[in-house]
Amino acid sequence: MIKAKKSLGQNFLIDKNIIDKITSTVSIEGNEVLEVGPGTGNLTKEILKKNPSKMYLVEKDTFLAENLKEIIDGRVKIFNEDVLKFDESLLSKNKIIVFGNLPYNVSTEILSTWITKLKNDYWFSDLVLMFQKEVADRIIAKFNTSAYGRLSILANWRLNINKICDISPESFSPRPKIQSSLVHFTPKKNFATIEDPLNLEKITRIFFSHRRKMLKKPFNQIFNGNNGLLEKLNIDLNLRPQNLDFDTYYKLTMEYEKLRS
Ligand code: SAM
Repeated sequence: MIKAKKSLGQNFLIDKNIIDKITSTVSIEGNEVLEVGPGTGNLTKEILKKNPSKMYLVEKDTFLAENLKEIIDGRVKIFNEDVLKFDESLLSKNKIIVFGNLPYNVSTEILSTWITKLKNDYWFSDLVLMFQKEVADRIIAKFNTSAYGRLSILANWRLNINKICDISPESFSPRPKIQSSLVHFTPKKNFATIEDPLNLEKITRIFFSHRRKMLKKPFNQIFNGNNGLLEKLNIDLNLRPQNLDFDTYYKLTMEYEKLRS
């Protein structure tokens, strides 16, 4: 019996229906697959049954990475590494389907890191990822809602987002205290041409540092009372950060980049 490590967010999937739901979200046959945090291999085994051409596993836990050797075949390559330090873009010239029942403690960091590292082209065709429900709600949030913020703005910049379902704690061992959600992402063909995604992160960090306050202070901090820009982007400084839609944040970032160039 393998003892789960809380520090690595180890909650193993034990619900066959949910595993089937995950593996039928996209067509695996003949495609290359990356699984983040395969753990004991419950999901890995079912993915392999669907005949991917290749499978890459990135598992930080050395004991589990070693254990996985028992269930793999010649199509599979195991990397005993931290996914946050791993360069997925070097894996293949083909687009990869990514699966991950992500460790909760680093799930937002993994998604944000992938998005901010993206070049014009994408190294993946799909991301099928499990998050704690509260995080998934923030990812899919639309403007004018309380969950809307930095994560939804960053994710929506490059990704189409579709929530598949919520998953209850009973589907895992050990049981987490919270609900989870499965989310499917695909690359956007058209997106705002922001030069450096870290500028989008910076703009949203400053704007959302005081969610309940009006936009006047963060706007002036960056754009120094530029009334022309307010008119151009149709921004009312009496609103709050959550009242500006996705496009306005992307345009603000592009204006910020123009100012600095
Ligand atoms: N996929 C398995 C399943 O569904 O049963 C395990 C999922 S468990 C929620 C998360 C897995 O990610 C664990 O196996 C854990 O060791 C691994 N992990 C945690 N942090 C990681 C990191 N930074 N890089 C790679 N793997 C990590």
